[in-house]
Amino acid sequence: AVMTENIRINNPNVKYTDTHIEAQYCYHTTAVRRDGDTLTVTPSVSELEFRTERRVPRLGVMLVGWGGNNGTTVTAAVLANRLGLTWRTKTGEQKANYYGSLFQSSTVCLGPGPDGKEINIPFCDLLPMVHPNDIVFDGWDISSMDLGSAMERAEVLDWSLQEKLRPHMSNLRPRASIYIPEFIAANQAGRADNVLKGTMAEQVKQIRADIQDFRHSSGVDKVIVLWTANTERFCDLTAGVNDTAKNLLAAIQSGGEVSPSTLFAVASILEGCAYINGSPQNTFVPGAIELAVERNVFIAGDDFKSGQTKIKSVLVDFLISAGIKPTSIVSYNHLGNNDGMNLSAPQQFRSKEISKSNVVDDMVNSNPILYRKGEKPDHCVVIKYVPYVGDSKRAMDEYTSEIMMGGTNTIAMHNTCEDSLLASPIILDLVLLTELCQRVCVRPQGSETFQSFHSVLAILSFMCKAPLVPPGAPLVNAYFRQRACIENIMRACLGLPPQNHMHLEHKLQ
Ligand code: NAD
Repeated sequence: AVMTENIRINNPNVKYTDTHIEAQYCYHTTAVRRDGDTLTVTPSVSELEFRTERRVPRLGVMLVGWGGNNGTTVTAAVLANRLGLTWRTKTGEQKANYYGSLFQSSTVCLGPGPDGKEINIPFCDLLPMVHPNDIVFDGWDISSMDLGSAMERAEVLDWSLQEKLRPHMSNLRPRASIYIPEFIAANQAGRADNVLKGTMAEQVKQIRADIQDFRHSSGVDKVIVLWTANTERFCDLTAGVNDTAKNLLAAIQSGGEVSPSTLFAVASILEGCAYINGSPQNTFVPGAIELAVERNVFIAGDDFKSGQTKIKSVLVDFLISAGIKPTSIVSYNHLGNNDGMNLSAPQQFRSKEISKSNVVDDMVNSNPILYRKGEKPDHCVVIKYVPYVGDSKRAMDEYTSEIMMGGTNTIAMHNTCEDSLLASPIILDLVLLTELCQRVCVRPQGSETFQSFHSVLAILSFMCKAPLVPPGAPLVNAYFRQRACIENIMRACLGLPPQNHMHLEHKLQ
């Protein structure tokens, strides 16, 4: 059905048709040229038209690693919200909610009301978006355990909630998956009792058939596939194997070095389904990216930005933008869930270490007053597996910075929380924003035709530790810039200028 929006834009440049919101938009940018010591800045404006489809589809989400901690937790959380469940804990009654979801639980400011007080609305009310309660889940896992038992294995949710959910979860069973032992830790072999047989090409064919089967049997309009399975080792980048779309498809036929996650990405892209990578490995080899671009399908990743890295992208942004110079960032983690066990193997840890390592680069590079060319803070990441703490991950960080006149500032932080309860709302935000982007197109100035966003969906950077961006595009990790990007693009769809926080009306005599 067409959504009846809660907000209405009162502007002749914004038109609501039966099917679309059409907005004329002035996009302001600047170009900078350096001549010796002089920088010449030239502003420019281009007139764009944004067109957003108002009809919200029935969305199906297929999770790879459905039986894992994240897979079971996000499925359970959506069910609990849909059913409006409450449950007893030792501190009282708890109600299902979507805390931690940018779209469901954070707000954006529309402006002042008649009394001068700011009016804030849920982020998701800016544009017609799928409600997470309406998502239909399906997925694959190399472990055959039903989702009720897998939720118990995860040890994330309160027991009394599990008891209420169990009848609904127990009849959900993951589909058999692609298992290539050398890509994940050897310690995972014990749970691999639900694996596809046959050649790589046959397995990709089966995954495609699974997607089609889900689409038809569930009646969803659209399917998005998201990897929340175990972290794989990095894949070797080899000319002739995964450097182009053609070579990658040929390597799948002949059985070259292709990871399970890349096989899933290829199957999804060939089915026209957006594919999101929630883990750190290099699923998106150049051939996979080329295939997505050729087929005009969205891909996004890598690695959910949930805890320690999210704080890093706030804290380092704060320090450097305040003119303080971080010189050493040391991060320890210990966790005791299955993800932690998998990451205790060196090659899988290496994938995580790489994805966690570059998150301050954009902020460091933005400030040549604090950092000489090529200079970086020391940055060290340690992850240890400690079974006792289960899903309740500990993250300890020490940030040391140089302050004025040779002074030193040390911030030490201890963060404890259930990892999967941070990742689950991020999984929802990733698919909700991807789905929205599939309904937005833009007509550049002077062009007759509308374009969609680039296949590499960089607007999802906010939710990713190591954002994938189109070739040549700036890579932004800084939290507030990433959030403003999403808000301002959504505002553009309504013909609204970027949020500028100037409050000039209160600053003049
Ligand atoms: P988990 O080990 O509980 O779940 C992963 C699931 O994937 C398991 O059930 C496993 O059987 C399954 N699996 C492994 N290989 C598979 C394959 N080839 N096909 C299908 N299923 C497969 O881990 P988790 O805590 O749910 O985390 C999942 C992933 O998300 C990990 O890679 C983790 O690094 C990443 N991640 C998690 C967070 C977080 O906060 N929880 C943050 C960033 C990234």
